[in-house]
Amino acid sequence: CSIPAAESSKKKDMLLGGLLLPGLDEQSCASRYQSVYYRKNMTRSPTPYLIDRLRQQEALQRRCGPGTDAYRRASDRLKSGVKDVDTVDGCSYLVLLSYRGLGNRILAAASAFLYAMLTDRVLLVDRGKTMGDLFCEPFPGTTWLLPLDFPLQGYKDLGEDAAESYGNVTTLRNETGGSSSEHRFVYMHLDHAASVENKLAYCDDHRQFLHRVQWVVMRTDGYIAPILFLNPAYQQELHRMFPRKDSVFYIVSRYLLHPTNDVWGMVTRFYDSYLKNADERLGIQIRAFVKDDKPVQHILDQILACTSQERLLPGVLPSAGGAPPPPTTTAGARSKAVLVTGLNGWYHDSIREMYWRSASANGEVVSVHQPSREEHQRMFHRMQDMKALAEMYLLSMTDKIVTSGWSTFGYVGTALGGLTPYIMFKPEDQNPKVPDPPCKRAMSMEPCAQGPPYFECTRKEVDKLLDTSNLVPHVRACEDMSWGLKLT
Ligand code: GDP
Repeated sequence: CSIPAAESSKKKDMLLGGLLLPGLDEQSCASRYQSVYYRKNMTRSPTPYLIDRLRQQEALQRRCGPGTDAYRRASDRLKSGVKDVDTVDGCSYLVLLSYRGLGNRILAAASAFLYAMLTDRVLLVDRGKTMGDLFCEPFPGTTWLLPLDFPLQGYKDLGEDAAESYGNVTTLRNETGGSSSEHRFVYMHLDHAASVENKLAYCDDHRQFLHRVQWVVMRTDGYIAPILFLNPAYQQELHRMFPRKDSVFYIVSRYLLHPTNDVWGMVTRFYDSYLKNADERLGIQIRAFVKDDKPVQHILDQILACTSQERLLPGVLPSAGGAPPPPTTTAGARSKAVLVTGLNGWYHDSIREMYWRSASANGEVVSVHQPSREEHQRMFHRMQDMKALAEMYLLSMTDKIVTSGWSTFGYVGTALGGLTPYIMFKPEDQNPKVPDPPCKRAMSMEPCAQGPPYFECTRKEVDKLLDTSNLVPHVRACEDMSWGLKLT
């Protein structure tokens, strides 16, 4: 293990105030216990109540998870379609489907975990092609990976129109009556663009309907925690678990998400080589939503306008017109390491060249580093996902961070680190120029929920569009997406 020298002498609280359990094998998942030596001390602590709830969830996962008799009986029931069963054995399940980019999948995993805790369900995640290569098992003594022999035929293809979708099931139930225990499973389609009927699932008081359905399959591509705060049925429990609302993902991710040794090796080797010794680290996450991920001048201009406006990077001195440069002494100068992430390498090359060709105006020594340049996004590609995850963690280890609006990759890098980002506004597609202002300091570290409902759970007036960003305290409109919601 390569714990930074300055840190290794100090004994750190590897269990994060009781968030993590002792006794798990440190060799098989080094990040679980080593990350404390790379990250800043936690700025938000888990409450004793949350810690209790986590221990209960772990016990539930072990009692009902794959390999147990209870799981075998539940999956037999799912397979055979026997109806009129209650949640026998006290075990009910939430299966999370994997889809879209890695940032989406990580936000979905944290959200599904929170939902599973709120509704006393065992969380099982569809591994997609890469989940098992990316994350260690979070729960001691069991697995959170959906078994490969999961018996529900075609579950990966479930979509909004499925007969079992929440929207279809509840519409039919309103028309013809019927009990929820008749359903073999219910499918929650919570894509950001889901229909109103499906988004009504956010308002379900699970004690009345979903509670009696043993299997729930969920598909979401984003962070839904802010939306769960809108449901009166969950508000009290959420408040007890998270009295501070601005750090839900931060705390959940430190409990749930631990990169595998392969990914952690990539993180620590890069950190130790390029970032560790700098006086300050700045992360710049570039996600240009442009065709073929080609380099775009106005995005580079936006980055430089933002870092200049917020005094994150020094300007450069004009070049001396061919005369030899004045002698400089860098001994004792402050050093700043800039971590650039993005699919394209041109932004990194341009910024690095700027500080190579000209001296920084304040004498700071600026070094610029980019771990990978993959050029194009490839879905569920093992190595790209591993690099992407390593880069999200590296971003989280910086001191200040600039991110691209709308990007779930940036949301994760930010919130993992407990950093309040400077978010660059997405340039308009029709009018590609540097937005004014180019960026803004965010209200909180929390990710944005990009596809919230526009109705109130108590009234469910789905035909009227309602601004849901002022219904409850601590849930506000996102900086980068006026219709999104975030916790503050
Ligand atoms: P979003 O599309 O920005 O919301 O972020 P996602 O992570 O959901 O999807 C983008 C995908 O493109 C990632 O999962 C990566 O596979 C790839 N990608 C985007 N930006 C980067 C980057 O900076 N580094 C690497 N390695 N991959 C990236």
